[in-house]
Amino acid sequence: MAKCPICDAEAAPRSVNPSFPFCTTRCKTIDLGKWMNEEYRIPVPDSELDEDDDAGASDGSSDAASKTPKDMRH
Ligand SMILES: [Zn+2]
Repeated sequence: MAKCPICDAEAAPRSVNPSFPFCTTRCKTIDLGKWMNEEYRIPVPDSELDEDDDAGASDGSSDAASKTPKDMRH
């Protein structure tokens, strides 16, 4: 029986476990996230994160111009 490299739980065989060699999809995702973190670890120069919290106010003005062409021919 294979063991999940993430939580060390028993992982079901590949035939019945799409997340093999992990026990669950969750553990698979965790492992993936680890890799992503490694890859995305880029050296960031001294930069300031300026978060602009701008709440956009939507104006509820609807100009409904419905056109109904009355062109009925016999
Ligand atoms: Zn697991």
